[in-house]
Amino acid sequence: MGIGMELQDLNLTSKKFSHQKFRAEFPALNNENVYLDSAATSLKPQAMIDATLEYYAHNTATVKRSLHPNALQVTEIINQARQNVADWINASTSSEIIWTSGTTESINLIAQSYARPLLKAGDEIIVSELEHHSNLLPWLIVAEQTGAKVIKWSSVIDDLTSLLSERTKIVAITQMSNVTGFCPDLAAISQIVHQYNAILVVDGAQGIVHHPIDVDKLDIDFYVFSAHKLYGPTGLGVLYGKQILLETMPVWHGGGKMLKSVSFDHFIPEQHPYKFEAGTPNIAGMLGFNATFEWLKRWDFNQAQLYTEQLADYAKSQLSKLTNIQFYSVNNSSIITFNIHNIHHNDIAILLSEQNIAIRTGELCAQPLMQKLGCQGVIRLSLMPYNNKHDIDCFIIALQHAIQILD
Ligand code: PMP
Repeated sequence: MGIGMELQDLNLTSKKFSHQKFRAEFPALNNENVYLDSAATSLKPQAMIDATLEYYAHNTATVKRSLHPNALQVTEIINQARQNVADWINASTSSEIIWTSGTTESINLIAQSYARPLLKAGDEIIVSELEHHSNLLPWLIVAEQTGAKVIKWSSVIDDLTSLLSERTKIVAITQMSNVTGFCPDLAAISQIVHQYNAILVVDGAQGIVHHPIDVDKLDIDFYVFSAHKLYGPTGLGVLYGKQILLETMPVWHGGGKMLKSVSFDHFIPEQHPYKFEAGTPNIAGMLGFNATFEWLKRWDFNQAQLYTEQLADYAKSQLSKLTNIQFYSVNNSSIITFNIHNIHHNDIAILLSEQNIAIRTGELCAQPLMQKLGCQGVIRLSLMPYNNKHDIDCFIIALQHAIQILD
């Protein structure tokens, strides 16, 4: 290896954050378009794209089944991916990490495999009002199946204390709201929930992107997220569950490689995590996600977040100059939601997209929260460390133009 190569490698391993360098990693940003819809899905770094392409172009093979060299190598890398996830969230072992298709499937797995056998008529599942539909519907479905009740919680900690009782079996809360950006105090919530012997389910779909998470320290029972919001591929997600819970949970999908033995009379499932992973998994996705983690480790996560928050403050200060604006999001958040009085949110979205600005509008899969906020939809811009001041300035000019047309 030449000296130049060594220097380059040294640079790669020392964690830094330079937003110009970070931005340059995203080929989707090499054009005039302004992408402010990252809470819906993030853009993808070249490292993740290369790993996916490499698999499909040169290394296609299945995992955990065949014995030819590519299959063995790919199996090894996806084991590494599982370990990378475990390290990122501080799970005690990689066998506590289950691959799913996304946050939505992970919560449905908990509802059907953990909650359904446990719940009886009269039991209660407390769900915060902030939740995305994917952290509400699985609980409503399992409540219908078992006779349990879903109880609405404001997400204020004092209110939780008065809702908890010996009937409470599960409390479900987001790490970060996809509408308001609010991050509940998970440490305090976890402590209270466990005093009642209930379990805590945390939806990390937005939170994992912007905030460090330590499932062990926070004593979280189940933690879920989607790869596609964390610079990774679509169609891949994670369910973390405490070993002691996963051990007792029955299988929920049947198929290849989730079993030790099977006959026409009975079957014996594998241990977790495999017992929950029937069928050929999203191999390309896992390889891509492994490359995402290797790439993520090169950057200082806290500095990147600080940069994003400063950018969000700038965006909010520019937006605050507009008259008739109502904000719904908390301060210092990468998510900014608002409405302009007397203008429909979707009209703004259409006029912004005509000016090459991508944002999200509507109810953001959170109808109960919209009802609470007293609106039918909102305008949301969501920022990542690859955005810059120029993106915000383009957005503000385009928004002013849209308001002029619509007002
Ligand atoms: N929870 C939150 C807070 C989200 O923002 C989202 C995605 N919008 C989800 C859950 C669902 O994620 P997915 O569609 O990737 O399963």
